[in-house]
Amino acid sequence: MNLPIQPNDIQAVIEADRNHVWHHLIQHKPFETIDPRIMVEGRGMRVWDATGKEHLDAVSGGVWTVNVGYGRESIANAVRDQLVKMNYFANSAGSIPGALFAQKLIEKMPGMSRVYYSNSGSEANEKAFKMIRQISHRHHGGRKYKILYRDRDYHGTTLAALSAGGQPQRVDQYGPLAPGFVKVPHCLEYRNQFPDAESYGLAAANAIEEVILREGPDTVGGLCLEPITAGGGVITPPAGYWERVQEICAKYQILLHVDEVVCGVGRTGAWFGYQHYGVKPDFVTMAKGVASGYAAISCTVTTEAVFEQFKDDASDPMSYFRDISTFGGCAAGPAAALENMRIIEDENLIENTAAMGERMMDNLRALQDKHAVIGDVRGKGLFLGAELVSDRASKEPIEEKRVQAVVADCMAQGVIIGATNRSLPGFNNTLCFSPALIATADDIDRITDSVDQALGRVFG
Ligand code: PMP
Repeated sequence: MNLPIQPNDIQAVIEADRNHVWHHLIQHKPFETIDPRIMVEGRGMRVWDATGKEHLDAVSGGVWTVNVGYGRESIANAVRDQLVKMNYFANSAGSIPGALFAQKLIEKMPGMSRVYYSNSGSEANEKAFKMIRQISHRHHGGRKYKILYRDRDYHGTTLAALSAGGQPQRVDQYGPLAPGFVKVPHCLEYRNQFPDAESYGLAAANAIEEVILREGPDTVGGLCLEPITAGGGVITPPAGYWERVQEICAKYQILLHVDEVVCGVGRTGAWFGYQHYGVKPDFVTMAKGVASGYAAISCTVTTEAVFEQFKDDASDPMSYFRDISTFGGCAAGPAAALENMRIIEDENLIENTAAMGERMMDNLRALQDKHAVIGDVRGKGLFLGAELVSDRASKEPIEEKRVQAVVADCMAQGVIIGATNRSLPGFNNTLCFSPALIATADDIDRITDSVDQALGRVFG
């Protein structure tokens, strides 16, 4: 590969980074003695760093984002064409790509109707929270203000989204948090927290109802859930869970908000994760894979029934949604998203994701048979996790440093995998895989072979 910068310049870049960049989610002390990694170029499933090393990326840009792979010139061209024509206008006016992408998105989401644009997953979730709060003010005298979230789920980094955060290591040092967010139990069947439950799915959903009854149903306005929990350990919901959740929301008139920031736009082998479970949400939020990281865009999608509640009294100046996201008016986002969606359709990437996801699941199950340290394998499509335990009977979690040793061994082999909950005592133990939706059988096999070798070396 021809690196676009010369070796001398690379050292200058590394020093500039070391001296001035504050990276996300990472302890910087080691950078006093080792170089920070700089990613320089990407093609398909592969990325090259500043040392020229090639990596097979099994985590789509680290955080489930680059769904259609790197180096897509057609997306870059669509964005360029849009930027030179009309880069920005506040979204109180429309844009051509904004209108066309909204229409195309809604075609994939029967029952949904309106798209509100912003820039990040956190922001998309904040918009839904604000809509739920405004509905409470306008239609329930302000009483139905509480928003339920689930243990182990994550909905973003801004303070209200963080207040709905079920991962203590990301939340605990940032209080005081926003009031009105209430936690419900997780639904990880492997670590069933209801020992006497006959059907785990039903019990986990009924635990939500218990919280609603405890809080008072007339105080609860919304329930926000990931369809499959991502950073909390790749948690696929147990059988019967979503059906019961839907019933509970209907029973207590609670608006159901599905956070598809990770699962959305093909990742799980369907357009959206909730569609596997026949769920009818009131809100769907999405970000990462919407434009595969080629531009910043997020969407808060609602039903027409939700939307109607913001225009039923035009004479009241407080009746509409008094919210703006400045960069929700950047036309690059929907231009990239439109082309991203065309690629997914034309290249049959949803079908590929389902097929390659099955192959990867089979490979991981075979590794589970071979390596006692894999306690559980779960996920859907190209969104999979393997939970590591030091003892299968007790399910004692493996220590963080050994999980990191597996990740580092794969990295040394030229394969980037992830691990969730790294610093959370008790469940810092799930290897995480989310290759781009373009992955081939060879890519999948190479990823799982590298894990096989890494587990052999670290635990062998
Ligand atoms: N929801 C989920 C499920 C996520 O995983 C994330 C990010 N990892 C977010 C929301 C927040 O998205 P962003 O970082 O774009 O604000």
